[in-house]
Amino acid sequence: MMKTRYFYEDHLRDHYFAYELLKRKLRTSYVKAQIKSISTRELRYIYRSIHQKRPQSGQIQIVTTIPICRESFLYLALFVSIFQSTSLADTQSQLDVSAIIFAWDTFCQIFPDHIRDKRPFGKIRPANFNEAWVIIQSLRKGLVELQFCTTCRHNYLIVHNCQFTSVCQVCELDKARKASLNSISTLLKYPKRTISGLLIAE
Ligand SMILES: [Zn+2]
Repeated sequence: MMKTRYFYEDHLRDHYFAYELLKRKLRTSYVKAQIKSISTRELRYIYRSIHQKRPQSGQIQIVTTIPICRESFLYLALFVSIFQSTSLADTQSQLDVSAIIFAWDTFCQIFPDHIRDKRPFGKIRPANFNEAWVIIQSLRKGLVELQFCTTCRHNYLIVHNCQFTSVCQVCELDKARKASLNSISTLLKYPKRTISGLLIAE
């Protein structure tokens, strides 16, 4: 009797999470990897029932291609920080699906106009729930790390093997901003008109 009841609750929980993940347009292959008790065919049927269209296909998202500029790291660090502060599980060993859903919904509330299903994606990442999923999976695998910068006292994100160096992007952006302000202020102090009409610093 107990076994049957446990099985039923387990099944119910799997369906609940499948619905919540598919509602946020997670790829059926990602859902299947997480929830093995539901067939791919049924997952595709649930997706179609919710969205009135076939599940998305196309290339699997690679984590190293998600950040497109330094600013992207700030948004990613915020998303991962929300996830980590919410997750009850050890993020290295278990995947806390409820925490991913909560972190994503919170992120969408903060940046409602920047969420995209299709390219082009802006600098605010994750741009959609699939990217959010990949980021948290990568965190679990150690491909992504959240660290604390003792200089600016912010969390910052490292994506190993991506095109950006593994440094605090808050500090890097601050340095770049100061350098840019210095060059503008030099131009403002000592403007000089050239033949082509450009202003240059003397
Ligand atoms: Zn810093």
